[in-house]
Amino acid sequence: MAVIYERVALIGLGLIASSMCHAMRRAGLAGEIVGYAKSAETREIAREIGLCDQVCDSVVAAAKDADLVVLCVPVGAMEAVAQEIGPVLKPGCTISDVGSVKRTVIDVVSPHIPSGVHFVPAHPLAGTEHSGPRSGFAELFDNRFCILVPAQDADRDAVEKLAGLWRGMGAQVDEMDAEHHDLVLAVTSHTPHLIAYTMVGVADDLRRVTDSEVIKYSAAGFRDFTRIAASDPVMWRDVFLNNKEATLEILGRFTEELFALQRAIRQGDGDHLHDYFTRTRSIRRSIIEAGQDTDAPDFGRAKAKDV
Ligand code: NAP
Repeated sequence: MAVIYERVALIGLGLIASSMCHAMRRAGLAGEIVGYAKSAETREIAREIGLCDQVCDSVVAAAKDADLVVLCVPVGAMEAVAQEIGPVLKPGCTISDVGSVKRTVIDVVSPHIPSGVHFVPAHPLAGTEHSGPRSGFAELFDNRFCILVPAQDADRDAVEKLAGLWRGMGAQVDEMDAEHHDLVLAVTSHTPHLIAYTMVGVADDLRRVTDSEVIKYSAAGFRDFTRIAASDPVMWRDVFLNNKEATLEILGRFTEELFALQRAIRQGDGDHLHDYFTRTRSIRRSIIEAGQDTDAPDFGRAKAKDV
């Protein structure tokens, strides 16, 4: 595949940025990849493993002269980074991000983008519970969706070029507006993570069941919850602080459904439980048919890719 951007700067060198490095290299999409992370320790690891062509010691040095800058930091850190690099962005370049929430990121980043620079927000719907520069792999985005959230008056050439990069990294590309994105993700990712965190917290609180029993007898359901609940605390704290409205809306609906199931159990209403579980089973089937998961007994855990 041909080079799409001569110089790509990745700000933040964790799971998503390191996977982008591997995926861009796999397809030869970037002339040069430069990177920056906040801590000297992460920058050192990135150098040691040869993650990108150059690891810079300042965010400004990384962003300067780049044709594409991608903010791969936690949602709560996006504004400070945009403020710092805004003044040095090359005229005509594109700035993007991979944040899991879009409305707030757009609101806090946009004011720092100089005119003549294209801001095309994005969110790859792929991830694992691992973080840091060693956790990335080239196949992370294969056949997963990357949602682009450009403004209505965005430069279409800049949007198409970024879409081409994500396709080159293996993803399928869709476009959405920010509010819709945040609601969809509250249903498919954010609330499920909160429920997983809660279930693992409950098991931990239930002192009558000892820790060793929770681990020794952990059945598939609980194991899947623990994998999701092992996700990075900073990233997920920021997701909930920044997708407040949509998450609270879905949590409200979730609580109502949970109460209805609770009542069905108390009243011995087997029909209600059976109908409900039949409906949910068909959703699982459609996800497999859409090629977004495997029906292997281990749910493809060997290379888990749930956002
Ligand atoms: P990660 O593995 O925890 O890496 C985060 C990186 O950001 C680290 O390299 C960290 O540097 C750096 N960083 C933090 N604050 C910074 C700052 N102020 N300036 C420069 N670098 C900074 O995180 P990730 O999983 O790649 O997530 C990155 C973004 O992708 C988040 O916005 C998240 O919402 C989004 N996302 C994540 C997933 C997922 O499943 N993980 C999926 C899709 C999208 P240090 O190591 O030096 O602290």
